[in-house]
Amino acid sequence: MAKADFKIVVFLGAPGAGKGTQAAVVSQAMHMAHLSSGDLFRQAVERGDALGQKVKDYMERGALVPDEITIQMVLERLSKFDAQNGVILDGFPRNLMQAESLDKALSGGLYEKVDVAVYISVEQAELVRRLSSRWLCRQCQTPYNYDGNKEAVPACAKCNGELYQRPDDAPETVQKRLGVYFRDTMPLIEYYKQRGTLAEIDGDGNVESIAERIVKAIGDSK
Ligand code: AMP
Repeated sequence: MAKADFKIVVFLGAPGAGKGTQAAVVSQAMHMAHLSSGDLFRQAVERGDALGQKVKDYMERGALVPDEITIQMVLERLSKFDAQNGVILDGFPRNLMQAESLDKALSGGLYEKVDVAVYISVEQAELVRRLSSRWLCRQCQTPYNYDGNKEAVPACAKCNGELYQRPDDAPETVQKRLGVYFRDTMPLIEYYKQRGTLAEIDGDGNVESIAERIVKAIGDSK
């Protein structure tokens, strides 16, 4: 199953660090698949199916969805991918339990291992600023930064879809999500550092220059 230049890449970073934006740009540039646990959950909520009903309340509160639901959903998706150059996991793992389950599944035959954990680091004040001006296309999920007049929000430049603000980007929920990030997800930086797979990327700057740094880090990983 494992191919010579096939890479499993994990994106780490706080809410607002640019994981989704960068995962979309880099996966396209490197012909990799992009698997976003948050997008999968949001799609389930939109559909209103059994998974959506189970996870809606956690998402609205800015809490993590329980591990058993998340791990099963992501590993099942991962087993179905037939991506040429690998997969970027965006938003998963989010805690130690998820990271260990991923390692176990990979070493048990599903591809092998995490090749590189890309940690996009951004100052906390900048995270809050970005989240409060974040708008997304309802159809294709493309993110935009817009802090102008709410009555005059433009449509998506790619597909003309309607732009909306995620309910969990409201200020109180953002504080909750940042708290969850610092408590549960930050320890993963040390986890991957100890395994020699961490690449820290300065998340300050324009989308293209950050993407270049990430492409290089993925290319340099063994
Ligand atoms: P995101 O789009 O990555 O910010 O995720 C949005 C929300 O989906 C999070 O606040 C959680 O409620 C849920 N979620 C996404 N990924 C995970 C994960 N790996 N573990 C638990 N909950 C998750």
